Amino acid sequence: MRFGPTGISVTPAERYESAAGNRWPVSIMPAPGELLSSWLHRLAYANGIPPRYFGALLGAPGENWSARLDRALPDRILLVLGEHTHKPLEDIAALTIAPDALARLRLPLRPGSQQTCAPRTQATWLQFCPACLAEDETPFFRRGWSLATRLSCFRHGCRLRDRCPSCGHGLAPFSQKRLVPHQICASCGAALCKRTRPAAAGARHLERLIDDLLRLHAAGHRMAEGRSLPDLLGSACFQFGRRPMSIARLPHRDRYQLFQQLAEGRSTPFGKRRSPAISYWKRVIQAAPTWSGLVTSFSDAVLPRPKAGPCPTTAGPDLADLVQAAARLHQTRQAL
Ligand SMILES: [Zn+2]
Ligand SMILES: [Zn+2]
Repeated sequence: MRFGPTGISVTPAERYESAAGNRWPVSIMPAPGELLSSWLHRLAYANGIPPRYFGALLGAPGENWSARLDRALPDRILLVLGEHTHKPLEDIAALTIAPDALARLRLPLRPGSQQTCAPRTQATWLQFCPACLAEDETPFFRRGWSLATRLSCFRHGCRLRDRCPSCGHGLAPFSQKRLVPHQICASCGAALCKRTRPAAAGARHLERLIDDLLRLHAAGHRMAEGRSLPDLLGSACFQFGRRPMSIARLPHRDRYQLFQQLAEGRSTPFGKRRSPAISYWKRVIQAAPTWSGLVTSFSDAVLPRPKAGPCPTTAGPDLADLVQAAARLHQTRQAL
């Protein structure tokens, strides 16, 4: 609209469709390690649609629509997302946890509204580090937080949460009907970033060793005799209350307590029945206290020494990288 000497002239603006095509107005880059549902909630919020209604727009109605897409993303929805975000389809598919080599250790997804009403004795579908959410420039939920073997944040050393610190309900950002970011509890509206206490050293050592072993499994290194590491760890039953439970069925509070008991060698809640799964857990528990020292010695042996200068502040080396480096070293020696 322009004001001129002869009056007001109005020039129609270019239509949105011809200017931007079918692209949604706001584009969101997935963060490293982000879970698909987290990216979808951020995408919905940025484009002015509460997540509860964004699922229906994508053709995935239902209460826990985005968490279901984490586990199985149909091609038709992948195409819709690619068409409207112009992100490569393989990048979008990589945000899911499917196909899931660690399915046995993944926290369970219950149907519909049961996610929010889970009593404190039940596992929820997702955990989070409040310190990470507080520090993120744009808070996002990580794929690793959906594993039952994760208890603490490797960056902050604090315990994870699996419930809102204010109302105690499990996370349900997919059912948020208001236009608020997903680090706000969809049940009570409180912020989720209330800090937790540091995790005990013993529990963290055990958690770190299991995480390294699972990374090896995900990278294609398999156990002898074709046994599956996640299946072994996930099939062991621990005596909690009246009935034995696998680790993926326990809430964070009980899993943390369990890891502390195991690391400190206190009375362990293994049932009376002996099984390969229980034996494997016991071997892992024995190795955990010396594991970080072993990894450091291993990395000193196979990785080039850093040049003199200030110490890097990054986390420890990735075990899968170390194994690959050792394999390369072995090949080079053989070639010589
Ligand atoms: Zn953290
Ligand atoms: Zn709440």
